[in-house]
Amino acid sequence: MPTLILRSPLAGWALPLEEVPDAVFAQRMAGDGIGIDPTGNVLHAPCDGQIYPMPGSRHALTLRTAQGVDILLHLGIDTVALAGAGFESLIRSGERVVTGQPLLRFDLDLIARRARSTVTPVLVVSGATVRRCEVNRLLAVGDALMEIEADAVTVEAAASTQSVEVRRAFRAGFDHGIHARPAALIVAALKPFAARVTLHAHGCEANARSTVSMMALGVQQNETVELLARGEDAAAALEALGKLFASATGDVRGSPTGISFGHGVPQRSNTEEVSFAAGGRDQRKSPWDSHEPLPPSLPAVIAHRGLALGRAVQMQQALPKFIDNATDPRKESTALRSAIDAVGLHIETLISAQRGEQRSILAAHAELIQDPELHERAEDWIAQGRSAAYGWHQAIAASSAALGALADPHIRERIADLRDLELQVLRVLDGQSPSAGRALPENAILLADELLPSQLIALDRARIAGICTARGGPTSHVAIIAAALGIPALVAAGERVMQIAEGAELLLDAEQGSLKIAPDEAERQRVRIALSQQRERHAADLAAATSRSETRDHVAISVYANLGAASETALAVTRGAEGCGLLRSEFLFLQRQQPPDEDEQHREYQSILDALAGRVLTIRTLDIGGDKPIPYLPLPKEDNPALGLRGLRTSLAWPELLNTQLRAILRLQPLNNVRVLLPMVTDIDDIRSVRTAMEDCRRALGINTAPKLGVMIETPASALLADQLLKEADFVSIGTNDLSQYVLAMDRGHPQLAARLDALHPAVLRLIGSVAAAAHALDREVAVCGGLGSDPDAIPILIGLGIREISAVPAAIPELKRIIRSLNSSACRDLAQQALALTSARAVRERAIVARIETSGG
Ligand code: PEP
Ligand code: MG
Repeated sequence: MPTLILRSPLAGWALPLEEVPDAVFAQRMAGDGIGIDPTGNVLHAPCDGQIYPMPGSRHALTLRTAQGVDILLHLGIDTVALAGAGFESLIRSGERVVTGQPLLRFDLDLIARRARSTVTPVLVVSGATVRRCEVNRLLAVGDALMEIEADAVTVEAAASTQSVEVRRAFRAGFDHGIHARPAALIVAALKPFAARVTLHAHGCEANARSTVSMMALGVQQNETVELLARGEDAAAALEALGKLFASATGDVRGSPTGISFGHGVPQRSNTEEVSFAAGGRDQRKSPWDSHEPLPPSLPAVIAHRGLALGRAVQMQQALPKFIDNATDPRKESTALRSAIDAVGLHIETLISAQRGEQRSILAAHAELIQDPELHERAEDWIAQGRSAAYGWHQAIAASSAALGALADPHIRERIADLRDLELQVLRVLDGQSPSAGRALPENAILLADELLPSQLIALDRARIAGICTARGGPTSHVAIIAAALGIPALVAAGERVMQIAEGAELLLDAEQGSLKIAPDEAERQRVRIALSQQRERHAADLAAATSRSETRDHVAISVYANLGAASETALAVTRGAEGCGLLRSEFLFLQRQQPPDEDEQHREYQSILDALAGRVLTIRTLDIGGDKPIPYLPLPKEDNPALGLRGLRTSLAWPELLNTQLRAILRLQPLNNVRVLLPMVTDIDDIRSVRTAMEDCRRALGINTAPKLGVMIETPASALLADQLLKEADFVSIGTNDLSQYVLAMDRGHPQLAARLDALHPAVLRLIGSVAAAAHALDREVAVCGGLGSDPDAIPILIGLGIREISAVPAAIPELKRIIRSLNSSACRDLAQQALALTSARAVRERAIVARIETSGG
């Protein structure tokens, strides 16, 4: 029988039921369970379920789970006598709620003063047997509270009436668990099927066609989840999901009949976040709500580096006013549907005008606005006589609350996306356009509780000097957009940000992490000078970007661009890219259910080659697998994905994938400008295998020219055997990101090691030096295309080690070229020799910074 985990609905002390100061509860006459002496003031749902009609006194409520189990939450003892005083219901009778959703706000003081006890029984009143309880300890909202087992008869009664029902268990191997992206992939994978599919974890259920609902389960990486499909094509739907899960993990099929709910890792939820009320906005008393004067400087978290001097522009956007009740549900439902469609269309229009990050964030919004869970929740409210706006507002509030209860900060930050969609739909229902552009003064510093992506996209970039938000995090979508637009940005500055007067003069220091209010003249002058120098330098760099780059003593250094999408090519050329040194071809293969065919690949590569207008295009073959799973490749689950089937190893394991890509490349015109680059090469056999495959494809296509074939130096083995590899390879390109990861034995995604994972480490530099020497001895080209190539501090050392080609992120190219022009190659050689003798990355970096200041005066 299914085991369910109930989550704590309250923060407080858990005590055995027999200690509850009421005989009826203590003697289990009302049901089995536990008592909680609360310390918080909001009651949350212990699991997904539907709320029974509630008493007018609002002191207790019962919910029924999908398995038919009834759970009673009774706030305090003898609280019925309060006749509703001190209780504020946050939900309606009959509403479907999700785990962690706030249900009831209560005045703890009042209950303590006027009722017999604040102890709150949480009882299983029918349908299940309590197996285990957490007692005699302090609980946070969302902590595991009880393990219960649904009775057989209940499960049968709750079972679907649909004939075909298939269940399978999978391990969720996705990085960070089932967060937005994997959830979206699950939704996409189910699109061709009609089956009703639910995902079960932690004793709760989510609609597998709803990203919001799945994210709310808080499934962590490698937890086991169960998928239950009902309907004629149930088996096929689960088969498709099986492939998706297998791409991230080993498939751990459950028995076809047994139910095996995963036992979730207890989630410590954040009660502050959960207090995001049904009213749609955070009702917390802010520590900044005092009438203390604003301090001269507010500390904040840096989201995108830079300095800005400008005037405060408060960006709070109030939700349009709406009426709660309506008389004609059909009319409300139609109004909601057309408002959602209008916003969907608006987003689609914006998508076509955006690039890069903005585009993918908008694409996520386009998916989210069609989320069936949101629609269903809103429709439920409409069916109960509420207006379309009220229903939508409540649907967003419920989903936001569920996400807010999760421990994962990445998912919590997606609440801003929901609020964005809330505002847009409410604006349309109010007869306005979805997102309002707003006239900004020059040098506006945007202040907001939380700036929404659509707000930022609708503004005139040229007038925005900086952004500072009270909340949000450095990985929030608005922070990502700010970085893509090059706007200095601070987040999490606290709510006092909103007390800053409109038009106040501000100094936004996203180098040190502070927002200064009314900076004095000396500070303003310092920033003005720094900004004007930066601007002048930037303008001069851009003006000189397309000219050749060589050192003062005329050593030519080619500066190429790393590209990750066709749309980036034109900008890279205007930034001075002399070609593309690394096209990460993965962009064509990710986020889809089938690999691109030969023609599609050919078209994409050809468009990039055309946009490069006679410059070199270096296409890296698919670098996939390990930490970058793709749904249509049944890659095995690996304990050490970074050391497993990734890069060229994946291509060689699926020869058709490699051959298709090679054929698409070989058909390019002019082929002389094309180079092929192989990722994650270990030894000479790798390159021989590809050479043979390429020759076969060439013969089959009747093509005489062969593009140059190069290898990436990313493994210590390939660095140490570079002399051997270069006998087969026409050129090498050093991938310093992976090379450092493997040489230093530090995971490139490890947050605690991030500061120490520096490719300027002498051990990495020694390998770069020996690869460059091997290439020169055989008169072959040697490039650096990893992150070190975009690092201004590293350029003199790389040149000193013999590197003559750099491939960098396009934005860095103008500055890199200026630095190159200021260098002398023999001084670079001396600097490189000194660096090789130093003992740590920190020592090398300090030496490099001193050298840069000496050379350029800045
Ligand atoms: C590298 O490893 O340095 C590299 C350029 O490849 P990627 O960052 O795509 O792994
Ligand atoms: Mg790499």
